[in-house]
Amino acid sequence: MKVNLLDLDADGLAAWLAELGEKPFRARQLLHWVHQFGEDDFERMTDVAKGLRAKLAERAEVRLPQLLGDATAADGTRKWLLDVGNGNAVECVFIPEENRGTLCISTQAGCALDCAFCSTGKQGFNRNLSTGEIVGQLWWAKRALGDFRAPGSAGDRRAAETDFCRERVISNVVLMGMGEPLANYENVLAALRLMLDDNAYGLSRRRVTVSTSGIVPAIDRLRDECPVALAVSLHAPEDALRDRLVPINRKYPLTELMAACRRYLEKSPRDFITFEYVMLDGVNDSDAHASELIRLVHEVPCKFNLIPFNPFPASGFKRSPALRVRRFAEILMQAHIVTTTRKTRGEDIDAACGQLAGQVRDRTRRRTKRTITLAEAAS
Ligand code: SAH
Ligand code: SF4
Repeated sequence: MKVNLLDLDADGLAAWLAELGEKPFRARQLLHWVHQFGEDDFERMTDVAKGLRAKLAERAEVRLPQLLGDATAADGTRKWLLDVGNGNAVECVFIPEENRGTLCISTQAGCALDCAFCSTGKQGFNRNLSTGEIVGQLWWAKRALGDFRAPGSAGDRRAAETDFCRERVISNVVLMGMGEPLANYENVLAALRLMLDDNAYGLSRRRVTVSTSGIVPAIDRLRDECPVALAVSLHAPEDALRDRLVPINRKYPLTELMAACRRYLEKSPRDFITFEYVMLDGVNDSDAHASELIRLVHEVPCKFNLIPFNPFPASGFKRSPALRVRRFAEILMQAHIVTTTRKTRGEDIDAACGQLAGQVRDRTRRRTKRTITLAEAAS
């Protein structure tokens, strides 16, 4: 099987090229073509030597997941459905806001962690996505949104600079789509390195966020190997309730999780952890829960992001009323914890948090407003 260049970060690409007897600067050149100019055809990589282009065509490819669907919600949120083989599909969502554009990426087909309120979890685990499939979501979104740079000839520096300074459409990436990123650590790590690499996507560490349900040893590894912004899905202030809602808590209970958060902050590009907290009516949303949370996190500099529960069929939970969410936020804020409530976006295309199920049939047929072919998307 040919090597997929999307699977290789800078070091991986340099090592592979060295095996072919090529110089390290070729790695930079290829990274630019694939990840900055969005080129997947070696023949169009004009400043790559002809001999190398022939070798590449023989042994490598830029293999992107196939695009199965593209839907835009009334509020501008856009969702792509990507084929990852064997009847599996994953979803990736772009959320435009006034001063930033956030892409929410999936890291696994399904998820093994089975949180009680999550539709991805209810699907069970299918498989880990490869680095190329993770990065491929960013690649497709950039292509669809016109967010790649034009190659520009080497002599035309002014044009290149103008291009480079142009505002990016995708300024932030969050690994908050389907799957648990830290349960697919190696592939996620290489994908993060590509996202941060100035020769590839060049995103700021502060603008790339990994969201985890709390896999403690992997939080420590991420801190040492590639610290980016960290969001932790908390959802309960004490172990008995969290054991029920987020079963991985039975393995890594709250005291261990809080200690890992403190260790993470020693190297984090941001000086706070974001705690995500899904608001479930009558389950975890009382004043007492809020007070307990304040005690739990008192040694962890943090912000809270309250997520109104997004229902899906047979979930068995209800969303907390807006007034309850507001009161809960007030209690946290009175304790000087910055608290925001996540706006529900893209509900009409099932693109809101926890609604990503990657279903190819059912939902796509019923709800996708426009399904485009690969050729159309590429044009
Ligand atoms: N596995 C990672 C990242 C993907 S889930 C994690 O759990 O953090 C991204 C966020 O969506 C998590 O905070 C998760 O708890 C939340 N979420 C899951 N199901 C949801 C639902 N039905 N409504 C609202 N948020 C949900
Ligand atoms: Fe997996 Fe995150 Fe869903 Fe839990 S909330 S089942 S960890 S995707």
